[in-house]
Amino acid sequence: MKINGTLINYYFHCKRQCYLCGNRLNLEDNSELVIIGKALHETKYDEENSEISIESIKVDKIKGKYLIEYKKSNSDIEACKWQLYYYLYVLKNKGIDKVGKLICFEKKTNDSKSMIIELDDEIIGNLIEIEKKILALINSDDMPSVINSSKCKKCAYYTYCYI
Ligand code: SF4
Repeated sequence: MKINGTLINYYFHCKRQCYLCGNRLNLEDNSELVIIGKALHETKYDEENSEISIESIKVDKIKGKYLIEYKKSNSDIEACKWQLYYYLYVLKNKGIDKVGKLICFEKKTNDSKSMIIELDDEIIGNLIEIEKKILALINSDDMPSVINSSKCKKCAYYTYCYI
C-alpha cells in the first residue's frame, strides 16, 4: 500500500487506527465527524484550486507560496502537522517548494486559527523514517491494542474497537 497523508495523520493519532486504515478496514464513511469534515470541505472551500490530487495525496488548496490544509478542529495538532509536512515533502520531491499553512476551525467558537510550517532536512529525515515505520506496522500480523484514550470517542473505529 502506498503511504498517504491520512496514514501519516493516523500514525500520530493512534497506531491501531493507522493499522486498520492501512489494512483497508475503512469505517470512515459512517463516522459523524468524517461527515462533518466532508461537509466543511464542500461548503467552505469551493474557491478555485480547492482539493488537488497529487499521487496518493489530496491537498486542500494551493495559493501562492502556500499549501493550505483545513481541519475541522485543533484536537490533534501534532498529527495534522505531520500530515501537512508529508504533503510538503511529496510536492518537494516533484520540484515544488511550498510553505504549509494549517487552518483549524473551532466548532464551539466558530473561529479559526492558522499556523505556518516549513520543511527542513531534519523533518524530511523523520518523514522517511516514519514512512518505513508505517509500512512495517501495516504489514505486521499484530494489530496494536486499543489506546483507551478520550480521543477514541471521536474516532470512526470506536465501535470496532470497543463494542
Ligand atoms: S477507537 Fe481508539 S484505539 Fe480504536 S482506532 Fe480509534 S483511537 Fe485507536
